[in-house]
Amino acid sequence: MNVILLPCGVSIDPHRIDLGMRELKCECGEMHGVVTDINPLTRFLPEFLVDSLGEIIEVTDSEKWGEFGMTHVMGLVMEDFSEEVVFFDAIEDGYLGYSGLWISVFDAWRLHEIVVELVIEIMEHAMSHSDDENAMSDFEEKMSLFNITDFVKEYRMERDLNPEDYVGEYV
Ligand SMILES: [Zn+2]
Repeated sequence: MNVILLPCGVSIDPHRIDLGMRELKCECGEMHGVVTDINPLTRFLPEFLVDSLGEIIEVTDSEKWGEFGMTHVMGLVMEDFSEEVVFFDAIEDGYLGYSGLWISVFDAWRLHEIVVELVIEIMEHAMSHSDDENAMSDFEEKMSLFNITDFVKEYRMERDLNPEDYVGEYV
């Protein structure tokens, strides 16, 4: 049987994680953020960022990135937080409905902030290598109005106000 050893030291059976789960109440007493590769990027990012991300990746290095999705995003998170996030490869297990699972020591809220921070970082980096000055200034303008903490708070609140849109799937 597969067991996932969490960064906090607790082991869990991956079958406890169902597709709708976005946070795990752990035996260690903490809440841990849960992400699967089938989560849409809009779980964390507003549409405009997902769109610009697609464009940026296309103009910079689409060969390397392919279609940018949750696997890439969580790859970025793991680069910076290799001790805090654990990855479980579920491809071998046909019953789970996803092929990759990530669980973080921090809760879904903090994970959300980290994801937004890292994505903006790579976008800024990619933009700084772009020759398209219009795209660059357009992006800078959008970013100057963007506050990560406020965004995450509002984005999560907005979803709570529209429960029919998300059917309680997102935390
Ligand atoms: Zn734990």
